[in-house]
Amino acid sequence: MKYIFVTGGVVSSLGKGLTAAALGALLEQRGLRIKIQKFDPYLNVDPGTMNPFQHGEVYVLDDGAETDLDLGHYERFTNCRLSRRNNLTSGQVYETVIQKERRGDYLGKTVQVIPHVTDEIKANLRDPGEDVDVLITEIGGTIGDIEGLPFLEAMRQFSLEVGRNNVLFIHVTLLPYIKAAGELKSKPSQQSVAKLREIGIQPDILVCRTEHPLDLSIRQKLSLFCNVPVAAVIEEQDVESSIYELPLMLQRENLDTLVVEALNIPNPEQPMDEWRDIVRRLKYPAYRTTVGVVGKYIELQDAYKSVYESLTHAGIAHDCEVDIVRVDAEELESKEGLEQLKNLNGIVVPGGFGNRGIQGKINAAQFARENDIPYFGLCLGLHILTIEFARNVLGLPKANSMEFDDQSPDPVIYLMEEQKDVVHKGGSMRLGAYTCDLVEGTKTYEAYGKPSISERHRHRYEFNGDYRERFSEKGLKVAGVNPESGLVEIAEIENHPFMVGVQFHPEFQSKPNAPHPLFKNFVGACMKSKKH
Ligand code: GLN
Repeated sequence: MKYIFVTGGVVSSLGKGLTAAALGALLEQRGLRIKIQKFDPYLNVDPGTMNPFQHGEVYVLDDGAETDLDLGHYERFTNCRLSRRNNLTSGQVYETVIQKERRGDYLGKTVQVIPHVTDEIKANLRDPGEDVDVLITEIGGTIGDIEGLPFLEAMRQFSLEVGRNNVLFIHVTLLPYIKAAGELKSKPSQQSVAKLREIGIQPDILVCRTEHPLDLSIRQKLSLFCNVPVAAVIEEQDVESSIYELPLMLQRENLDTLVVEALNIPNPEQPMDEWRDIVRRLKYPAYRTTVGVVGKYIELQDAYKSVYESLTHAGIAHDCEVDIVRVDAEELESKEGLEQLKNLNGIVVPGGFGNRGIQGKINAAQFARENDIPYFGLCLGLHILTIEFARNVLGLPKANSMEFDDQSPDPVIYLMEEQKDVVHKGGSMRLGAYTCDLVEGTKTYEAYGKPSISERHRHRYEFNGDYRERFSEKGLKVAGVNPESGLVEIAEIENHPFMVGVQFHPEFQSKPNAPHPLFKNFVGACMKSKKH
């Protein structure tokens, strides 16, 4: 087995995760079985309780792990299915070490960062799960961060143990462009590599984020000062139109060839036709449609990452550019604000927590239902669809979710007994993959084309089955049910082009080459829908 470590230098948000994901795609194309994971140096045990303002989306895996959004890139770019073990944080490492210490596992020894913490980190590299040829591990944070040191030290030790020829270090760095001098600067990268070498790690490949192409002289300079061959200085220019260009761009720079040669893997290069087709459709789409995403973290680039990506994937399938308009839910609470919805071909209400912006989302659902605008509700978006229908069609003005009004006389979305006495907020929701049986003759069944599906969840509140009959009589139909618990997982509105709400998060299972069926049909419906 071979190991690749990806570190980052100079600044954060360099797109290390995307680089790791794109490399994974290139290696998979060569027929290698890969897995990508992330080690995060922060002390939180998982990102589940972290504010999206700071951290972007929480990405959920099949096993219910709440992880960093980079794991979303890994799963979207490759075929690997990740688990809890693939997102290790310092918080988890220290939690385990302290538990072991309390249990007496260290037999009274002094417990230290080296070797106890580093051993715990290395243990996560030794057992990546079923058949893997290459394990790619991204180290979060930036070289020079104090909390990252134990991870780097563990990598250094690990390469000594498994043999340096089985390990590759890739350092992703930034080359700032100084306008006045008209020059790309290599100094910050030199210093970052020097810091790595201080702890005994010599990067094999430098991936340079840059706004401008690298000429030979800067490649030579980086080579000389950072101690890597000129050919191992890789240019990674900002992508023009889409992140899905990245594998092709890195292949042009020979990244995958360098990697397989350095690790002595025989698999030859393969044509990247599928990726080329994806990029062609993204760059020169035949159609165009406009979709509004109504949320409360709308100003943030990353808060609804997987939702935006899934819409793009659906667009690829239809050869259609999906123009995404971010709509601030609170603005939809006024009449003027609602005007924004008239420019949309479809509306998505993504997941969310808490009271803020709820009325605006309900107004959006009402607008969609009354004007035959396609609507797709994800988790909270199902709750919104249900509350709106209960209030405006069933005539229950106080209908609500118990999340927003726990005294509501009509709690159409409610809290199940076992969730009522949850005190620990971390990891206590209904999390991870659950099976769902679909009802024949529904739009959902038509989209999936099969009777049983598995989707990922992350929520506390549920559709209240007591109202099922009344809803059904008026045209809100249950389209999917959990076979074990009987919980309602999908609802759709009859006699509407597409108004579907799902209790799960379909956005966690969509890829550019395999769009999620519901997103695909939703975008298909948007393409047929007229703006108002
Ligand atoms: N806040 C809602 C719940 O906890 C919805 C969660 C979500 O959209 N992910 O059930």
